[in-house]
Amino acid sequence: MDKKGTLVVISGFSGAGKGTVSRALVERYGYRLSVSATTREPRNGEEDGRDYFFKTEEDFLRLIDYNGFIEYAKYVDHYYGTPRKFVEDGLKEGQVVILEIEVQGAMKIKQQYPDAVLLFITAPSIEVLKNRLVGRGTEKPEIIEKRMRRAAEEAESIGLYQYIVCNEEGKLEECMNTIHSIIESESCRVSVRSEFINSLKDGLKEYQ
Ligand code: 5GP
Repeated sequence: MDKKGTLVVISGFSGAGKGTVSRALVERYGYRLSVSATTREPRNGEEDGRDYFFKTEEDFLRLIDYNGFIEYAKYVDHYYGTPRKFVEDGLKEGQVVILEIEVQGAMKIKQQYPDAVLLFITAPSIEVLKNRLVGRGTEKPEIIEKRMRRAAEEAESIGLYQYIVCNEEGKLEECMNTIHSIIESESCRVSVRSEFINSLKDGLKEYQ
C-alpha cells in the first residue's frame, strides 16, 4: 500500500510552545523534524545542526542563490530558511515531515505543496503567552516587544491555516494527541491517496 509523505507546517506565536510540541511528536511518533538554517545567534544550550544550522548572512544568501531552501523568510531582523533536501527526501520516503516555521514561510509552502497540513499553535491567552516569553529568560525586553508586535501581525493570518491547536499549561499530552489525530486523518484524504486508489482500481479491472 503506497503512502505519500505528509508535510506538516507548525506555526504559532513565539512562546506558544511549538518547539516542545514538535520535539515531543518526533520522539513519540517518529516524525521527521526539519532543522532550519538561521542567521540569528545561538541561544544558550542551542546546538548547531540540532536546533538550527547557524549561518552568517553571507552563507545564508549564498544558499538562497543555490536554491538550497524550499522557503525562507525574515523574522525580527534575521533570516530563517528550510533546507530543501531533507524535506524532499523525507516526503519521497513516505515520512511525516514537520516544519516549525513562521507565517510567511507557511504560505510559501502551501503554494508549493497544496496538500501540506497547516497548523497554528497558540497559548490559551495573550497573557500566558507574554508570561512564557518573559519567563523563558532567553530574550531581552526589546526583543520580547518585537516578538509580541510580530504576534499581532501573525494573528491576522491565522485564518489561512487549516487548524488551530491550543497548547495549555501542563497539557502537552493533549496537544500532541490532537495534532497526531489531525495528521492521521489528513493522510487518509482521498485527494492525497491517488496512487493507492489507482492500485485498487487496477486490481478490480478483471471484474469490469
Ligand atoms: P526562534 O528565533 O524563536 O527560534 O524562531 C523565530 C521564528 O522563526 C519562529 O516563529 C520559528 O517558527 C520561525 N522559523 C524557524 N525556522 C524557520 C524557517 O526555516 N523558515 C521560516 N519561514 N521560519 C522559521
